[in-house]
Amino acid sequence: MWNPEVETLTRERMEALQLERLRAAVARVLARVPPLGDRLRAAGITSPDDIRSLADLRRLPFTRKIDLREHYPFGLFAVPVAQLVRIHGSSGTRGKPTIVGYTRNDLAMWSEVVARCLALAGVRPGMVVHNAYGYGLFTGGLGLHQGAELSGCTVVPISGGLIQRQATLLQDLRGQVLCCTPSYALCIAEALETAQIDRRTLKLEVGIFGAEPWSEELRGEIERRLGLAAVNIYGLAEIVGPGVSAECIEARNGSHIQEDHFLPEIVDPETGEPLAPGQEGELVLTPVTKEALPLIRYRTGDISSLELTPCVCGRTTVRMSRIKGRYDDMLIIRGVNLYPSEVERILLSVGDVAPHYQLVVDRPGTLDELSLLCEPAREGLDRGLLQSRLQHALREQTGLSIAVQVLDRDRVPRSEGKAVRVVDRRPR
Ligand code: ADP
Ligand code: ZN
Repeated sequence: MWNPEVETLTRERMEALQLERLRAAVARVLARVPPLGDRLRAAGITSPDDIRSLADLRRLPFTRKIDLREHYPFGLFAVPVAQLVRIHGSSGTRGKPTIVGYTRNDLAMWSEVVARCLALAGVRPGMVVHNAYGYGLFTGGLGLHQGAELSGCTVVPISGGLIQRQATLLQDLRGQVLCCTPSYALCIAEALETAQIDRRTLKLEVGIFGAEPWSEELRGEIERRLGLAAVNIYGLAEIVGPGVSAECIEARNGSHIQEDHFLPEIVDPETGEPLAPGQEGELVLTPVTKEALPLIRYRTGDISSLELTPCVCGRTTVRMSRIKGRYDDMLIIRGVNLYPSEVERILLSVGDVAPHYQLVVDRPGTLDELSLLCEPAREGLDRGLLQSRLQHALREQTGLSIAVQVLDRDRVPRSEGKAVRVVDRRPR
């Protein structure tokens, strides 16, 4: 464990720490972030003393991505821009990226939580980290980078792109830890195959994959093809970047949230009503130690659930389940709700199909229609047969008829960062 003192706190002591920090965060917002401070005052919170217990968190108004857009770029910052030492942005998966900033203390906190996540994943000092998350405004590259440096690892800041060089350098520099999106891990696996590099000649032990939804089935596929243990890491720019939570290598069953810094809640995505532990809904996070951007009850849009029971790894921190998808990404096709990650799960459980896919939504007439583009796992498979097997499995398990197109190999678009899983061709 990177920080055993915090990661094994009793519930009582964790909650005491959270309460103290929540009060400080509320004080900061009231004093320094006028748009959010006014909103707190309107909800009857005029001083940190109005927060008497953690349950009072529920009285605080939510913050959403749209608030960051409305006050773009710096309007929600609690410090003058000159006090920022770094600016990042979200990837802009849904429109214009939001801008976030960090003070020196924020960067130190971020490095600490990433170091905890690396330790969670079983990374040890001295290991070689091949970091293929994109470097730049996106938080993935630099976020993992600074945490790995703090951990005492040797970092190869390769970033995304130049896929054949990824394969060569992974072999030559003896990378033991691979960091990238799960979809890019598959591209690297393909590049290794193209370069005829036998994975048994590599030193890979652990993969730290996140930034996009992925399924248990995809985990199996990646582990088989790269010969490593794949661990899930989660985060978002508005909260800090990667490092909000990660799975422990011991259980790999839910990601431990760094809840001394980020207070988690699950709410009903429609009504905002709090939901009980174990129930699935939208993850809401309150980063309580951030100096530059202290958001209150930020609606992540990500669908998950919380698990409070102790973990075999010895940590006491709350765990969040694998993200099913963003609430915004949920497709509603003829009344049926469908997340792309569900399609991924079905696709890979059928077998003989490559783990690259794209869903296309169109509206040729009055009804939405969904088709799925995919590829056979290898040459020589009967595509017609594969198509009907897939259509059958999708209909059985989702209740929807989805037109499956089995394309030639390498025809489904690849991406070096977050994969594009849904293409919307509906007329506007
Ligand atoms: P953007 O929202 O523009 O993509 P970010 O680059 O900050 O901005 O990405 C954060 C989002 O990425 C999260 O809100 C979540 O939807 C997704 N994400 C990050 N890590 C994971 C993960 N491990 N599993 C599923 N989704 C993830
Ligand atoms: Zn654990």
